[in-house]
Amino acid sequence: MNFFGPPTAPKTKGPVIKRLLIRCPSTAKLTPSGQTIREELWANAKIKSSKMTCPHCRQVHTWTKKDVVLAR
Ligand SMILES: [Zn+2]
Repeated sequence: MNFFGPPTAPKTKGPVIKRLLIRCPSTAKLTPSGQTIREELWANAKIKSSKMTCPHCRQVHTWTKKDVVLAR
């Protein structure tokens, strides 16, 4: 991270917050989990598997980190 760039540097100030989207295994559609994470922490983040009721197929999915897609 370089915080010493000129004032005209592109907008890179502050952490990038990503939303966690869960991919439905039945429909392949994405559903927001309601959680967010700083992008820089994602690679090493330990995500506990949890459950959600899917609005696309009406089933309860248990999801883990590999099912998550990050979105802005
Ligand atoms: Zn689903």
